Amino acid sequence: MRVMAQMAMVMNLDKCIGCHTCSVTCKQAWTNRTGVEYAWFNNVETRPGQGYPRRYEDQEAWRGGWTLNKRGRLALKGGGRVRKLLSIFSNPKLPLLEDYYEPWTYDYETLTSAPAQEHTPVARPKSAITGRDMKITWSANWDDNLGGSADHGERDVMLKGVEEKVKFEFEQTFMFYLPRICEHCLNPSCAASCPSGAIYKRSEDGIVLVDQDRCRGWRMCVSGCPYKKVYFNHRTGKAEKCTFCFPRIEVGMPTVCAETCVGRLRYIGLVLYDADRVLEAAATADEKDLYEAQRSVFLDPHDPAVAEAAQAAGIPRDWVLAAQRSPVYALINKYKVALPLHPEYRTMPMVWYIPPLSPVVDVVRESGFDAEDRGNLFAAIDALRIPVEYLAGFFSAGDPEPVRRVLQTLASMRSYMREINLGREADESIAAAAG
Ligand code: SF4
Ligand code: SF4
Repeated sequence: MRVMAQMAMVMNLDKCIGCHTCSVTCKQAWTNRTGVEYAWFNNVETRPGQGYPRRYEDQEAWRGGWTLNKRGRLALKGGGRVRKLLSIFSNPKLPLLEDYYEPWTYDYETLTSAPAQEHTPVARPKSAITGRDMKITWSANWDDNLGGSADHGERDVMLKGVEEKVKFEFEQTFMFYLPRICEHCLNPSCAASCPSGAIYKRSEDGIVLVDQDRCRGWRMCVSGCPYKKVYFNHRTGKAEKCTFCFPRIEVGMPTVCAETCVGRLRYIGLVLYDADRVLEAAATADEKDLYEAQRSVFLDPHDPAVAEAAQAAGIPRDWVLAAQRSPVYALINKYKVALPLHPEYRTMPMVWYIPPLSPVVDVVRESGFDAEDRGNLFAAIDALRIPVEYLAGFFSAGDPEPVRRVLQTLASMRSYMREINLGREADESIAAAAG
């Protein structure tokens, strides 16, 4: 066992209101500069939606001739020495500015100085980078208007223990917000793909940083990160990324995004993990086993053997105490309500998510079925507005079971607390079943 410490985050998606306060405060702190106007170290995506940059999850399209091997490392598909030599001078497909979307402002001058005329003057959008007139085609919240209105067709829904086919109409559409930062992965493919060795993972807390002096602007990290969370500064010619606000972390403050989050949904904490097991877990053959494999690298900080091994590895005692108090380990391993984002990318992401426990669909309510009733609680999971299968595509490589189990735990908690809030006697067996 080789114990290492890692800063990690869990976000509770039920609480995100898509206000973008996190994105704006992060921008003010880190990317309010020429060259990275377009970059959002923290962004908030509407789902269903295209993500940011657009369609970043279409890994095949972005990789060009490259692929991620089982260890999450960027590698050329096939190819001999000539191809490998050529690769030194090439780069897989990079996102364009329009994929990130060009920041804009408005030509307010026309509002104040236009002469009286039949129609009210319009403030036309102008690029915040070049100042040219522009047509806005894409931005944050763009997908809100779609509201998941793509045809989701029929779903099998359990109603009172009986499976029924339910046709989903427009009024049963759904959406939720997915805030994202760099995952500060345990197996960071950005670092593995950098020819200059400029990207490194801090040994003391696992924060992934770019050494600006060593960066030569190859942009392999931009292609190599499956989450597309490295940005190219077109003024300095260097790569930049989320720093997990390390200057704040070092003095005991939370990240800017966490401190300013309106929904209070970001939980930050230190976790201890077994560094010897990282690559083995990342290489787990069956994608469906990846969530469990990734969870299993975390070590119980309350275990005296772990605490002892941590101290032997030079981790300060108060860091071990911090790991014991950390909500991250508890949410991931004790209560098992947090899941990794796209574990199938095999980079071992360290920002995990509590999937949203959306309301039950109308058809269930119309049937008189109370989805928060403790007796019917578990049956309601497949009747939630956001389909379990859809969430599984984000958090468990398409396997609905881990998501279903999390939602059942959350539903149990909701039911248990409802009894307490209504002044009724809560069923302790629900709390016991939920762990
Ligand atoms: Fe690197 Fe991307 Fe992982 Fe961040 S999310 S550590 S940029 S591979
Ligand atoms: Fe969501 Fe919090 Fe960001 Fe608002 S500040 S968009 S609630 S994560």
